[in-house]
Amino acid sequence: MSFSNVAIIGLGLQGGSIGLAVQAYLPGVRTTGYDADPVTRIRARERGLVHEVCETATDAVKTCDLVIFCVPPSAMGAAAREAAPALPKDALVSDVGSCKQSIAASLAEALPGYTIIPAHPVAGTEHSGPDAGFASLFRNRWCIITPPEPTDLLKLSALVAFWETLGANVEIMDAEHHDLVLAVTSHLPHLIAYTIVGTASDLENVTESEVIKYSAGGFRDFTRIAASDPTMWRDVFLANREAVLTMLQRFTEDLTALQRAIRVGDDKTLFDHFTRTRAIRRSIIEEGQDDERPDFGRSDHEA
Ligand code: NAP
Repeated sequence: MSFSNVAIIGLGLQGGSIGLAVQAYLPGVRTTGYDADPVTRIRARERGLVHEVCETATDAVKTCDLVIFCVPPSAMGAAAREAAPALPKDALVSDVGSCKQSIAASLAEALPGYTIIPAHPVAGTEHSGPDAGFASLFRNRWCIITPPEPTDLLKLSALVAFWETLGANVEIMDAEHHDLVLAVTSHLPHLIAYTIVGTASDLENVTESEVIKYSAGGFRDFTRIAASDPTMWRDVFLANREAVLTMLQRFTEDLTALQRAIRVGDDKTLFDHFTRTRAIRRSIIEEGQDDERPDFGRSDHEA
């Protein structure tokens, strides 16, 4: 099976990118969309993010065979309840939320009896809203699909094919494992970036202009992550609380070990640790998940 009518609820970075990608790579598929924000709906029409931007969630889903919820994690349940009265019983329900266990539970509670197969495209930028989306967002990025047990295998393979056509590499994973992996690869780095940028701006003996002026020393790359959408990240930390706290505990222990190595002058521990982390960076580049050019390929090499 394949999908012919895709409804997208939430027309920001993720929803807009899916809408544009479907039009680019699946030209026979019709897309409808809805966003709670009327200004976003106007902008979505202007940019042509989907074929038809509807004024209600029920209008957007009434003829769909796949609905993808692209709203912040805390809004998934409410968005699903709003669409429920018109959602065809055989439509596949999916989403793009950054944490999977709590969102799967919200969708299942809001839409009893529906086939729900959650997904998470590990693709994003620090920008949000209807102007942020672009068709190639998912190309050569991973999309993790977390089907519940048991699942509808026909619908699962159609969802895998859908994401592959949009350019993603698909991985099937248990939702609990997804939340743990993403806690360390995405959620913790964001928490560290939010912390370090906050710490620098709170320092009394370093001026804000100095922080900005000398940011190329490494701080600048944290500021890009720390510019990410506050609503979404507040939701992610609360929705994936347990896994984030587990990883934070582990991180704190490792940080304390490095702190000790610095204090006692343990050069071998520091050198070995930094050598190991450098190898991880090399693997990420070899897998095509980042740019190996100096300074991440920025055109102006001012750093
Ligand atoms: P976004 O750009 O802020 O877009 C979300 C849109 O959903 C906003 O326009 C929002 O309107 C709207 N919305 C909120 N509640 C709604 C409702 N009940 N019904 C309809 N629309 C509603 O956010 P995004 O970056 O696309 O993120 C969407 C989802 O993708 C999140 O669950 C996030 O975890 C996941 N995700 C994000 C990234 C990333 O890098 N950004 C990566 C992977 C996955 P308002 O602005 O008025 O609230």
